[in-house]
Amino acid sequence: MRLGTVLGIWAHPDDEVYLSGGLMATARAAGDRVVCVTATLGEHGTGDPQRWPPDRLARTRAVELRASLAALGVDEHRLLGLPDGDCPGQPFEEVSDRIAAIVDEVRPDTILTFGPDGFTGHADHRTVSAWATTAHAKSKSRARLLYATSTDEFAEQWQHVYDRLPVFIDGAEPLRTPVDKLAVHLKLDEETADRKLAALRCQATQTAGVVALLGEDTMRDWCATEAFVLGA
Ligand SMILES: [Zn+2]
Repeated sequence: MRLGTVLGIWAHPDDEVYLSGGLMATARAAGDRVVCVTATLGEHGTGDPQRWPPDRLARTRAVELRASLAALGVDEHRLLGLPDGDCPGQPFEEVSDRIAAIVDEVRPDTILTFGPDGFTGHADHRTVSAWATTAHAKSKSRARLLYATSTDEFAEQWQHVYDRLPVFIDGAEPLRTPVDKLAVHLKLDEETADRKLAALRCQATQTAGVVALLGEDTMRDWCATEAFVLGA
């Protein structure tokens, strides 16, 4: 499926690559424009805040994100500059207006974001989903709105990864959308899977530990499927 101009709207650096890195790389290889919006720099995304105080982590994650997007062929990025972990505390109308203005400026054919579930249950993700959905409605855009999901088959196949990694929070579980309900079901070819792994590795503050735990091959194969349903 040709997605045309793609606008991704995500919460933290690494959300975009985990959930849509292959799709972004495929769109860029086809000559389509891809613009990525990130709400926060994920400055609290560490288990070691002594070593990684928020300012230092934010600076590093900004560099990592640029490198990761570049590995996917994406060079258009917008940062909203909001506080990590406090998306739900931000003024809803103001932020959704900012995103609507980006939608009207970019004029995407396809908008990618989280579903209302936030994919992992993260409150920032759920809020970004609501912002993006509202921004789409407020804008003049007729873009196709797509929510990241996973399938029953995928959840079964990768349960051994979820047993070892704290991906899901607040009681969330892997999403199990029936395959026939998917709008996009992308199984990455070898070259794209390699490219996505390289892009994931660019965000080492977030992914180095995961790669070390799972091994490169499992990391690559786990990340080689991307799925989306039509949004509201
Ligand atoms: Zn996130």
